[in-house]
Formats: sequence, C-alpha cells, structure tokens
Amino acid sequence: MNNMLQEFNGANYIYKLSFDRPMAEGYVSADFNTLFISDMTATLLPENKSFNVSKEELKYLTSLGEGACLEINSNKKIASAFGILNDNTLYITDKCNSNCIMCPMAEPARRDGHTVPFEIQDELIRYMPCGMEHITITGGEPFIIKEKLFDILQQLKTGNKAHSYLLLSNGRVFASHEYCHKFAEVVPEDFLVGIPLHGPIPDIHDAISQAPGSFIQTTAGIKNLLATKMVSIEIRIVVSKLNSKYLVQLAEYIVQNYPNVDSVKFMGMEMLGNANVNSDKVWIPYEEAFKYISPAIDILVNNAIDVAIYNFPLCFVERPYWNLCANSITAHKIKYAEACANCKEKNACGGMFTGTDRFLANSVKPIL
Ligand code: SF4
Repeated sequence: MNNMLQEFNGANYIYKLSFDRPMAEGYVSADFNTLFISDMTATLLPENKSFNVSKEELKYLTSLGEGACLEINSNKKIASAFGILNDNTLYITDKCNSNCIMCPMAEPARRDGHTVPFEIQDELIRYMPCGMEHITITGGEPFIIKEKLFDILQQLKTGNKAHSYLLLSNGRVFASHEYCHKFAEVVPEDFLVGIPLHGPIPDIHDAISQAPGSFIQTTAGIKNLLATKMVSIEIRIVVSKLNSKYLVQLAEYIVQNYPNVDSVKFMGMEMLGNANVNSDKVWIPYEEAFKYISPAIDILVNNAIDVAIYNFPLCFVERPYWNLCANSITAHKIKYAEACANCKEKNACGGMFTGTDRFLANSVKPIL
C-alpha cells in the first residue's frame, strides 16, 4: 500500500476511521483511538489534534468507509487498512520455513525478516469492523508464529470480522494431525487455504521450495486438511522453467489425489527477490510457459476442477482460455508496456507485475 497521510500528527498508530460525529464519539467511548473526518479536516480523538487531508487522501479514506481500521506508521504511511469492501490483507511475518527459488521476497527477509508483534495483531483485529467482505492472511509463512495463528483465527471468528477468508500457506504444517485438528476447531466459515504445489514428485517440488521433505509434508497437509471438511483448498502452481515440463503430470497427480479441491491456479512469477536473483534458473518466456499450461488446464477442466490463470497478460494466453484469466495483480504493482497503449484489450488485461515487466515488455503483442 502506498497511501500516506502527509500531515498526520497523531501519537498513536492504530485508529478507527469515522465520518460521523456521533459514531466517532461512540468509538471513543468504546476505547478506540479515532480519526474523524469532516470536510478536508481529520481530527484525532481523544487526542484532539487536527490536520488537513488532501483530496486524494480523502478519496482513499472514503473508499475504506465508516468504521475502517487504519494502521499508520512513523513515516505517516498507512501500513495496513481494513474496510468493509477493502482488499484486506492481514500480514503476519516475512519469515518462512521454505525458501522457494522463485519467491518474490529475498532470502535474507525469509530468514531474518520482520514478524508483526502479537500485541499489534491483536489491536488490529480489535479495531477491524465486523462483517468485512474478505480478509487474506499471508506472509511469509503465517504458521511461523505457531499456535498464535490459532488465537488470531479464533479472534476473527468470534468477532465475525469477515464473510470470507483466504490463508496463503505452504501447507507443510498441516502434515501434523494435531495442527490440523486445532486449525479445524478455530477456523471461521467460508475459509479457503491457498497452497503451492510445485511438481508431481519430491525431486521437483523440493528443488523449487529448497526445503528437503517439503513435498511429503505439503501433500500430506493437503490430504489432512481436505479430510477435515472444514475448509476449501486451492492449489497454486507458480510456473517456472523448473516445473513447466511437468505440469501435465502435476495436473494428473491433482486429479488422482485431490479431485475435491476447490480450484487450481496457474500463476506467473513476480520477478523480484529470489526470483530475480535466480532468473537464469527460473525464467521462462510466457508464451512458452503457456504451451505447457494449456494441456494441464484441459486435464483439470475435463475432470471438473475449476482453474484460473493469474498474472498472465492476455496476449500470452490463447484466446479460448481468456475467460480463465483473472485480474490478479494488486493495483499498485500493475505495469503495462508502452506498446499496450495500442491494445484494444487493455481494459480487460490484468497487465504485468512491476519487476516482471522488464522480462515481458519487449514481447507483448497488442491486440488490434
Ligand atoms: S499488449 Fe499489453 S494490454 Fe494488450 S494484452 Fe498484452 S500486456 Fe495486455
């Protein structure tokens, strides 16, 4: 998120947002620090400090809506925001117990990165409005914080914070029946777990995750989670040079072992961090990648498994598969090439990741 409040002068870091004076006073009585907006002025309550907001800031705050939760860091940047219709993300940690060769985060961050302090997580959840459309819980690997994640899920569930959830996890932790059981006890309704599967055999998956034994753990985790019948699972396949030739085999593996997964997502790489460092090992031109993806899609679709394609611009996908392409890249990360200005499908195309654009920009083919 790139939004800032340039003139923010508050002493706190988490606020409830309000556009209505009686509501704002109600939040203060319920022990919430509150950022009350009237015209172009923000008033912090109960601090009783005011500052001006720009038209752009006002537009953003208005989009979050009454009762939203804002986390503002010491640089006046909105580090996270939770609104009823917002694309809400609860970020847990940079750290991960895998170190995927095409991860957009760099290895040092994976190893030594920041974990959001538990007291901040708890406050964010307390401040969140109830009944939000959706929350994505992500990292790093969220289960790096172990049982605390169960506590977070319980708080979200008890507080009726959202109607639907997506948890992004490498799934390894669910190889433990005990973890799976505890998870099933606290998980809110309408809960989807997105788990990456890199290949149909340990050699391929573990070479990509750079974590020996991870294929066995992840595949057991998927099986155990499906057996709980408490959550849905989407399998995420990040397509690289290392696994592209095995996608058909991987699709057959999924059909055979997990016919009741919610969906399979084929994903283009975000060429930052590890992916950038290892680009000679992982990069595959998208038009070539799609030649391997399409037969794998056919196998899944013929077996009644839903499929979507993430992060692929339309001009790298054969037209009959366009309806599977999702506008999956977060708004502030989307790039288009100069040539895209001439493309008549630009409005329908989800564009490229910033970072991946330098690998793709010269090969886009505007649709005329
Ligand atoms: S030319 Fe640009 S806008 Fe058109 S499909 Fe390709 S990437 Fe998308």
